[in-house]
Amino acid sequence: MEKRRLRGDLINANKYVKERLPLGFVFPFSCRQTRLDKAELISWSKGFSCSDVEGKDVVQLLQLAINKQEVGELEVVALMNDTVGTMMTCSTREIPCEVALIVDKGTNSCFMADVQHVQTVEETRGRMCVNTEWGCFGDDGALDDILTPYDQHVDEESSNPGVKRFEKLVGSLYLGDVVRHALIALAAEKALFIGSNVTVLGTKGVLTTQQVVEIISSKEGMTKARMTLEALGLRPSERDCCRMQQVCRAVVSRSAALCAAGLAAILSLIRQSRGLERLMINVAVDGWIRGSRGESHPSGMPHTVTRLLAPECLVNLKLSEDGTGRGAAMVTAVALRLADQRREVNQLLAPLRLTRADLERVQALMRQEMDLGLGRETNANASVRMLPTYVRGTPDGTERGEFLALDLGGTNFRVLAVRVAEKGIQIASQIYVIPTNIMQGTGEALFDHIVDCIMDFQMKQDLKGRVLPLGFTFSFPCKQLGLDKAVLLNWTKGFSASDCVGKDVVQLLREAAQRKQVEKALNVVAVVNDTVGTMMSCGYEDPECEIGLIVGTGTNACYMEEMQNVGTVEGEQGRMCINMEWGAFGDNGCLDHLFTEFDQMVDEKTINPGKQRFEKLISGMYLGEIVRHILLALVEKGILFQDKACPTLQNRDIFKTKFLSTIEIDGLALTKVQAILWDLELQANFEECSLVREVCQTVSLRAAQLCAAGLAAVVEKMRENRGLGQLAVTVGVDGTLYKMHPCFSEHLQQTLQDLAPNCAVTFLLSEDGSGKGAALVAAVAVCGAES
Ligand code: ADP
Ligand code: MG
Repeated sequence: MEKRRLRGDLINANKYVKERLPLGFVFPFSCRQTRLDKAELISWSKGFSCSDVEGKDVVQLLQLAINKQEVGELEVVALMNDTVGTMMTCSTREIPCEVALIVDKGTNSCFMADVQHVQTVEETRGRMCVNTEWGCFGDDGALDDILTPYDQHVDEESSNPGVKRFEKLVGSLYLGDVVRHALIALAAEKALFIGSNVTVLGTKGVLTTQQVVEIISSKEGMTKARMTLEALGLRPSERDCCRMQQVCRAVVSRSAALCAAGLAAILSLIRQSRGLERLMINVAVDGWIRGSRGESHPSGMPHTVTRLLAPECLVNLKLSEDGTGRGAAMVTAVALRLADQRREVNQLLAPLRLTRADLERVQALMRQEMDLGLGRETNANASVRMLPTYVRGTPDGTERGEFLALDLGGTNFRVLAVRVAEKGIQIASQIYVIPTNIMQGTGEALFDHIVDCIMDFQMKQDLKGRVLPLGFTFSFPCKQLGLDKAVLLNWTKGFSASDCVGKDVVQLLREAAQRKQVEKALNVVAVVNDTVGTMMSCGYEDPECEIGLIVGTGTNACYMEEMQNVGTVEGEQGRMCINMEWGAFGDNGCLDHLFTEFDQMVDEKTINPGKQRFEKLISGMYLGEIVRHILLALVEKGILFQDKACPTLQNRDIFKTKFLSTIEIDGLALTKVQAILWDLELQANFEECSLVREVCQTVSLRAAQLCAAGLAAVVEKMRENRGLGQLAVTVGVDGTLYKMHPCFSEHLQQTLQDLAPNCAVTFLLSEDGSGKGAALVAAVAVCGAES
């Protein structure tokens, strides 16, 4: 069926490409191929030796010759080895044929290898047919152990002594001569032809492989042996004929066994590289090995031996019919189909592939928005809010003391006790649940609940009666009026408690404490955003850490800005940490040129359409969704999951961002990708798995690059602020996407280096940034106040 369809493709192709007929070219010599239509001849063999061809591209030579002949418009689109053509003709719809074996005058094989294991080509996706040129196996001496004196004689007599050692043990060009040399040796030992003159056996080629094959047949073999020997002028006895037959059988069996060993090696390699326990595969065979009349090899073919050597592989041998001719047509048709498909995929993904110029533009726009956000007059119109945090310094490592911390707005609500000592930082913490009815109830109930949790924690930690300074990590957008004064601008992440927006959250906490009559037990000294907590906790380890970055559910960043540039806060001295709220970058339309149709579809289905536009290109909450929409588009175009229903792909959020992390692991076998997709009820074949991986890579690469462009604006601004030629700075990072994705951080760092070459940026992973960071902000505040 597959074959029919391909041939149909070719016929259709002929119909409308009349002017330029595609031509496939079977060329059974050793070539170095760099493309389907580019092949440099390494060396002639099998008696060919035309001058001025070795080292040249034979496709080009053929094309030039065609053009000169004016034989109509032919375009050479594919060159292939005869093994490849053979393989192509033996696929069935159920089991693909992925190995071909030719044993004729010479011998060779090819197989479909996962490209990631083929280090000589640049591509990293999918499979490629590898022509083994195994006839040369042993040319480095690897087979010396099994070479007999007869093989040495055959080699010495050949036109290419010392090379193609494996071929000379297997191919039909040589088997007759191997037998002949064995007979000479036996005659010299007086084990054969006693009394006969055997000089005739000294002539190369007097015994053919055809004769050898006929002699080993059990029916007429003995007669054939006698006829053959008599034709040479020998007078063989019955015993001579019998021994001759034994020698012939030994030589042919050895040839078959060696082929089988080679085949077994290929099958095991395929099985292992695909991580399969069992491999079911079609193997195409062609050449004299299939027998003169089409029956399989007289010695039982390599089949039995292969089963012994590679028992986990279930091999179905297929005899190829005009493999080379039809195979060439198929490769040509497949090449055309794949080229078509590639063009469509490239077209679809092109808007997601950013050029360096695109990224430079994003960097410049981010810089522009930062300046707007910092300016007193312009702040209201900036998409990047640039919120002052009243954190004026990073830790210097001398901070000491015991602190309480709250962490609200991450994945869990936690209360922590943090001891900052010379030995390091010790943390005790407890997670408390905030029930949905409280998250979405009244503000009073929410803050009452928080105070209850603090009291419970103090009792459990034996801290009752002690009044520790408290740092509050509150990861919602706030307008801060002081270190301990933060007005909630809007709730996010599923919170909607009433009567909180527009109020100071520290005041709300203090009022709750008053209601519970524990106001004396509470000493809130700082409210902190999670980016700031991250920067502070890494700053304790590394004093150069003056940037905080989050790439988790959402994305955001903060950094140390010069007070003189912060138009929204009085004072010119020193620095202040600015919470950029960069997730909203682009909400004013300045990034509209970057949004693809897929981004629009994702945005439309969120709870905040048109908002947090930058975040929606980058963070964990959205990447899986973007991929899902691209896959849907590929399905619609008929490129992916052809003829297969995939209703699950319609479900929102079914494609998790964590799948990108797994699918993109370097060197992950495509079967693992297949397993993930099968869990989603997507029956993907290998070609499709590889396409899905490409989509994931494109989306996560863009996310990392955009994040880098944003960071480049930040580090470049810091460098300019300080009037430095070179800036060394550390970024404290948190967030599961950054931490778990196999290439996000690498792509981010590479792109940043490219965009901001004058900044040496180090990345430091934050551990428990929200907890530790809040305590450290409190510590810096308290210690600062004391000194
Ligand atoms: P938060 O940002 O809420 O504090 P995290 O930093 O833990 O929480 O990020 C959680 C987000 O990370 C999830 O929403 C999910 O999109 C994403 N995520 C979870 N696991 C992985 C993973 N293995 N690889 C990439 N992203 C992940
Ligand atoms: Mg977090």
